[in-house]
Amino acid sequence: MSIRVTVWGENVHEQKNKVVAGIYPDTMHGTIAAALNRESGITASTVTLQDVEHGLTPERLAETDVLIWWGHAAHGDVSDAVAERVAEAVWSGMGIIFLHSAHFSKPFKRLMGTPCNLSWREAGERERLWVTARQHPIARGLPDHFELEHEEMYGEPFGIPEPLETVFISWFAGGEVFRSGLTWRRGAGNVFYFRPGHETYPTYHDTNVQRVIANGVRWAFNPEARLADPTTAPNRPVASALEPIEERGPRLHHDGEEGYR
Ligand code: ZN
Repeated sequence: MSIRVTVWGENVHEQKNKVVAGIYPDTMHGTIAAALNRESGITASTVTLQDVEHGLTPERLAETDVLIWWGHAAHGDVSDAVAERVAEAVWSGMGIIFLHSAHFSKPFKRLMGTPCNLSWREAGERERLWVTARQHPIARGLPDHFELEHEEMYGEPFGIPEPLETVFISWFAGGEVFRSGLTWRRGAGNVFYFRPGHETYPTYHDTNVQRVIANGVRWAFNPEARLADPTTAPNRPVASALEPIEERGPRLHHDGEEGYR
């Protein structure tokens, strides 16, 4: 069985910017998917912002084990309905990996519930990523640190909820540091944020970066059954309680009512 990955690409810079198109003639999402397809046990395909429903129909999400998201220039063009659909798929157990500037994407902000703000500088400076969780599956096969010669700087503080795990911390030539590999669980879904990947640098051709993303896919994959509807809120009336209980105080709802108002 293969892990089914959908790589979502904004696909704006590749079409409008010659530098980006030169580095990524097969697009950023296409490059990420091609690297994943060289892994055993992973089958990756791509969709883009410009596709109908941004390529993320309910049917497509139902067939996606792990979604990868890269966006930067057009976060506001993603429909609220699709962003909500992605969040619900995560709550149901779909894994998701947010790359680089996807920290400001609608699905990431929806899942985090915080501003997700950070400081930044575009100077092509060196980034050194340190593994802070040697035992973590996302760090498998990596050296204790690795470098990207040209990257955009992201600096702390990063306006996110405290992560479940911190797998990487980055240092930048200008002196800033940043929590650059972070995990959360949202509902039944595993969430991984990985910082590198500015569009004017060849980051997604780097073998260590490709290793992290492939490891992230395997980590985020939740082979347990996907929950049909993670948002149900059933009533458990007194008469069907597991233990006999005495009803006390005023009641707003009647037995048999669906949901909570
Ligand atoms: Zn960037």
